[in-house]
Amino acid sequence: MNKEVILYMVIPCYNEEEVLLETTKRLKEKYKNLISNKLISKESKILYVDDGSKDKTWSLIESIHKNNNTFLGIKLSRNKGHQNALVAGLLTAKSYADVIISMDADLQDDIHAIDKMLEEYYKGNEIVYGVRNSRKKDSWFKKTTAQSFYKLMKIMGVDVIYNHADFRLTSRKVLDCFENYKEVNLFLRGIFPLIGYKSSVVYYERDKRFAGESKYPFKKMLSFACDGITSFSIKPLRMVLILGMIILLISIVIMIYSLVVKIMGKVVPGWTFITISIWFIGGLQMLSIGVIGEYIGKIYHETKQRPRYFIEKELLK
Ligand code: UDP
Ligand code: MG
Repeated sequence: MNKEVILYMVIPCYNEEEVLLETTKRLKEKYKNLISNKLISKESKILYVDDGSKDKTWSLIESIHKNNNTFLGIKLSRNKGHQNALVAGLLTAKSYADVIISMDADLQDDIHAIDKMLEEYYKGNEIVYGVRNSRKKDSWFKKTTAQSFYKLMKIMGVDVIYNHADFRLTSRKVLDCFENYKEVNLFLRGIFPLIGYKSSVVYYERDKRFAGESKYPFKKMLSFACDGITSFSIKPLRMVLILGMIILLISIVIMIYSLVVKIMGKVVPGWTFITISIWFIGGLQMLSIGVIGEYIGKIYHETKQRPRYFIEKELLK
């Protein structure tokens, strides 16, 4: 049997007073099982991250912690959003833990998938993605928007795991790498596949939210999707360049057409000149913007200062 690992769960909470006690109850039970099955060490903890909640979330976390020191908490100074709350939790937990699992507070993620995730970890995987195997319990709206989102990301060339949200196991080694990504516009789902290392996937049934409302209204969802694309892809810039080229090509066709019509003498004076100018200048401008876009794309990559590589194994001695 492997040496038991210290597992920290990181759970972002924003106005989750309605679900927190139930989540705590279920996780307590889960940890008892995991510890008695020798899957995790007794020093394993659960870290709640209060993302500047306006309800009683933090005082609940305080009293949960007082009753049982398996449950820990950190409180952000204000609402910083799900992704930032997650990062705060992950980077705090990694100083104490061997493995970290992030999960939502609302019990939509199946906590029984944790066993399978740990199994995959013991098989040597450094990242284990929790992937929902169906969206039966999601509303039509959520299902459609989410699926179009994953498709769009793929078209834009962003490497994301289909139907994986932020239910994920990572080893401390991976989080040490992750710490090198200094970007402010965070889209964690896009970063972890970039890090590399051996990874695997665990499927689970995603449940309905246990109580309370979604903290991701449509507006937040849209800005999240937008962040995901603009933080990982410069394809939109390149599309402008391609469009410019296409319009410039069209302008040549228009030029020939206009001249033919002129020669045939069917036009009012000035028409040929104006038609050719409009298309040619339009194409030229679009092309120029595209060229500028290419350079902006380079600046964009440089300013991110992303790490160039991580060494997984060494044979140096
Ligand atoms: N959350 C957060 N800060 C926010 C919004 C959400 O920490 O500004 C947390 C929330 O408490 C939950 C998780 O992020 O644990 C996912 O949110 P939610 O379940 O509302 O999203 P949905 O499942 O509807 O996409
Ligand atoms: Mg949820």
